[in-house]
Amino acid sequence: MSSLKFQPPRGTRDLIGDEFRRHHRVIKTARRISALYGFEEWATPIFEDTRVFARGLGETSDVVSKEMYTFEDRGGDSVTLRPEYTAGLCRALVTNGLTQSNLPRKVFAAGPMFRYERPQAGRYRQFHQIDLEILGAAEPLADAEVIACGYHILKELGLDEGAILEVNTLGDTESREAYRAELIAYFSAHREALSEDSKRRLEKNPLRIIDSKDEGDRKLVAGAPTIEAFLTEGARAHWDALRRHLDGFKVPYRENPRIVRGLDYYSHTAFEFVTDRLGAQGTVMGGGRYDGLVQEMGGPATPSVGWAAGIERLAMLMEVAGLTPAAHRLVTVIPVSEAEERVAVDVLQSLRAAGIAAEMGYRGNLKRRMERANKQNARAALIIGEAEAAKGVAQLRDLDAGTQEEVALTALVERLRG
Ligand code: ATP
Ligand code: MG
Repeated sequence: MSSLKFQPPRGTRDLIGDEFRRHHRVIKTARRISALYGFEEWATPIFEDTRVFARGLGETSDVVSKEMYTFEDRGGDSVTLRPEYTAGLCRALVTNGLTQSNLPRKVFAAGPMFRYERPQAGRYRQFHQIDLEILGAAEPLADAEVIACGYHILKELGLDEGAILEVNTLGDTESREAYRAELIAYFSAHREALSEDSKRRLEKNPLRIIDSKDEGDRKLVAGAPTIEAFLTEGARAHWDALRRHLDGFKVPYRENPRIVRGLDYYSHTAFEFVTDRLGAQGTVMGGGRYDGLVQEMGGPATPSVGWAAGIERLAMLMEVAGLTPAAHRLVTVIPVSEAEERVAVDVLQSLRAAGIAAEMGYRGNLKRRMERANKQNARAALIIGEAEAAKGVAQLRDLDAGTQEEVALTALVERLRG
């Protein structure tokens, strides 16, 4: 044996057993509920042309400036492992010529994301997201519906009690320009107290400072002006309508003027579902409106809105709440000797054909096979010895009740369905 001891790469995890089932439950639930709202599922590549994510000099978000897995491939092209879904989905809308008709497109996607971050509980370098986008709808009703669908998914997962929706508006460009000037004035007056990162943000994108996780920054942010006073009439109308529609969809929320989101492309609506059950990594779902992104991909103006949720964080919430899905329970078919293997395989296949999960070991005597059945938490064992095979029956042992009875092979499916 080799003496190498491999570990998964830093910030990555293997999903096995309970963890996998929680993870899978999140995706399955999101797929089912989003379909109820008219979303269709798309899959886009895990890596893209780097420019899909880093669009020119305007990018100041941590994701783009510090966290991307970017490399040159063997052909000399710069590619990036996707750190987020939205940009790739907008790229796909444009690439596939879908911007001209049949808008809005309502898209659901789920898969892995990659960010070079400092790993800690709830923060990984490969993590997974579920994602919803409504591409090509400027109406605040779309903002509210995409949020309502997110809330419905949380509810279906049993997590709505533990997370609360916080909403904010970032206004339109005009509102934001005015607000930006005010923020620069405010933070400039406190420049010395700002973190190094935020000093840099001050020139490029002072809104970013509001999102800072630095202790000192946060103290300053608490006293910073909010956008409220700078909203144009149109921006205010959008904001009012959003809240009205959230009431219509019966989604509880609170307003939080500190929510600006981690990426640069948002306008109007910004929101997060937050929880106090996960320590520092409290945001489980976040998103907002982005009206310029499809254009940056070379498409026509296509106002859009969407969100992404971290599957690991939702899975952690499920774990905390004791909501781990149980493993599938099998029926174990046990031939007592090799002579009964043939009839046992017939039984095995007839159960599977009827939709009953079943397995049969490859080796071992009756005792060994029963041990494995118990270890696997099988619900029943079907024991077929020489006498049973001759008679066309099996001993059906209910592993929960501990009872055993003889059942005709032809009656097994019926019996095990009950
Ligand atoms: P954070 O402020 O926690 O860094 P973010 O604003 O960078 O989050 P988004 O880009 O909005 O996050 O991604 C949406 C969701 O994806 C987050 O709310 C979170 O649940 C999850 N997420 C983001 N980064 C990670 C990560 N490194 N590991 C696990 N989940 C993550
Ligand atoms: Mg982040």
